[in-house]
Amino acid sequence: MDADRGQLIKNLLTEINRGGVRDRDVLMAIATVPRDAFVRTEAQHQAWENRALPIDDGQTISQPLIVGLMTQALNLTGNERILEIGTGSGYQAAVLAELAREVVSIERYSSLAETARKRLADLGVSTVRVVIGDGTKGWPEGAPYDGIIVTAAAPHLPQALEQQLSRKPGARIVIPIGSPDDQELMVYERTDSNLREYTLGPVRFVPLIGEQGWQE
Ligand code: SAM
Repeated sequence: MDADRGQLIKNLLTEINRGGVRDRDVLMAIATVPRDAFVRTEAQHQAWENRALPIDDGQTISQPLIVGLMTQALNLTGNERILEIGTGSGYQAAVLAELAREVVSIERYSSLAETARKRLADLGVSTVRVVIGDGTKGWPEGAPYDGIIVTAAAPHLPQALEQQLSRKPGARIVIPIGSPDDQELMVYERTDSNLREYTLGPVRFVPLIGEQGWQE
């Protein structure tokens, strides 16, 4: 790795650590996954900056701080099966693949899904399965999941996702919920008796569009 790139990665880790990403494994995963491989040629110089960047079909690759906070909130130990809604560039899925056993990632745009699949294969990431569909309905074939992460903004928690979350205490859904313009990053965590909910703070995501999300 050249010295400049190494320094950019170090600066990014310092910034997201200050922003609340304290889990060393999550920081390591963010340092390991080459974010520059997931952003457009014209945005290469910003690949290691703590900001969301445009990808195709009017979508975005999320800000690294948010990727870190959402991943950390899943509290992964390495043995989990995770469902991601909103593959986008495939970056978040690649970060999850560093920390979990298996990831199913759903994207509604087939072009984005195909590009992400190819990118992940080129990087040798073999534990992510990218599927095309309406993620508001989850992916029942793969259920139950130990963790579900939604990387687009929902009006409410889609019922299908709650149903497809494992019953084991500690299983979690991380999802931005609110209006199309601003949301709270919510965590729903299974306990012995119910689903405990808490917020990680305000965020702004592109809309989750589908049967149990926003209409197009
Ligand atoms: N996780 C992505 C990454 O690492 O690049 C960023 C995701 S981007 C902020 C949100 C993505 O959710 C977009 O690619 C969008 O097309 C997708 N999306 C929106 N509604 C969806 C749905 N119902 N099912 C699946 N994907 C959806």
